[in-house]
Amino acid sequence: MKLAGARVLVTGGGSGIGRFLVERLDAESAEVCMLERDTARCAEINDLPGGRIKAYPCDVTDPAAVDAALQTVFDAGFDPDVLINNAGIIHSEPLVNMLSRGERVHSRETWRRVMSTDLDSVFFVTSRVVDHMLAKRCKGLVISISSISANGNPGQSAYSAAKAGVNALTLTWAKELGALGLRFAAIAPGFIDTPSTRAALSEAAVTRLQQQIPLRRLGDLQSVYLAVRHVIENDYLTGTVLEVDGGLVM
Ligand code: NAD
Repeated sequence: MKLAGARVLVTGGGSGIGRFLVERLDAESAEVCMLERDTARCAEINDLPGGRIKAYPCDVTDPAAVDAALQTVFDAGFDPDVLINNAGIIHSEPLVNMLSRGERVHSRETWRRVMSTDLDSVFFVTSRVVDHMLAKRCKGLVISISSISANGNPGQSAYSAAKAGVNALTLTWAKELGALGLRFAAIAPGFIDTPSTRAALSEAAVTRLQQQIPLRRLGDLQSVYLAVRHVIENDYLTGTVLEVDGGLVM
C-alpha cells in the first residue's frame, strides 16, 4: 500500500508512540485521524497548523463509545485503509507481593483495567473497523502495537497476558481474513524512550537495562515509525509480529 494518501486511523495518538506516529504519517502525506481518551490532547491536535489531523475523543475500553466515535469518523467520510491499535497502558505488579502487610495478591481491579485497555480495546475497535473495510471492499491493514513482554516478563502478569492476546488476535485475523485481502501485523517494541517508559523506570533501572540490550540503548520513536511504514508498504507481509527491541529478545 502506498503511504501517501492512505487513510490511517490511530488509537491513543495523544502522546508517546501514537503522537509520533500521527505526526510522521501526516508529514508523509497520509490522511490521519485518531481516537484518544484525553480531550485536552484531542483539542491540541485539532488546533495544529494546517488542521489536517482529526482527533476524536473516545475511551477505547468502552464498546458503546467506540461504536459511536467510529460512526462519527465514517460519517465524516473517513474510510480507514489502515488501523493502528496503539492505545495502551504499561503496568507492573508482582503476582504475589510477599512484602505487603495487606493484600498480597495482584489487584483484580488493575488486572481488569490493563486487560480492558490493552486487549479488549483492540477487539472492539478492530471488529468495527474491519467490518467497515469489508463493506467498502477495502483491502485494509491492521497494525497492533504489542510488546516484547508478550514473551513473558516477570512482574507484568496483566500486561504480558494482554500483549500475548494481541499477538494471538493478529495471527487469528491474518488467517481468517487473508483470503479477503486484509492484512494484520503486530509491532512489538522493546524499551522505547517515551515519557511512559521514563515514568515506569528509575534512572538506575534504565542504565541496568541498557547493559542487557545488545545495541546498548533504548529505542527511539523513529524506529517504531519505520517498522509501521515498512508494514504498510510491504503488501506481502501479514501475520507477523515484528520486534523492534535492539536485540533484547532473541
Ligand atoms: P503513552 O502513555 O505515552 O501513550 C498512550 C496514549 O494512549 C495516551 O495518549 C493515552 O491517553 C492513550 N490512551 C490510554 N488509554 C486509552 C483509552 N482507554 N482510550 C483512548 N486512549 C487511551 O504510552 P506509549 O509508551 O506511547 O505506548 C503506546 C503503546 O505502545 C502502548 O500500547 C504500549 O503498550 C506500547 N509499548 C510501549 C513501549 C514503550 O517503551 N513506551 C514498549 C512496548 C510497547
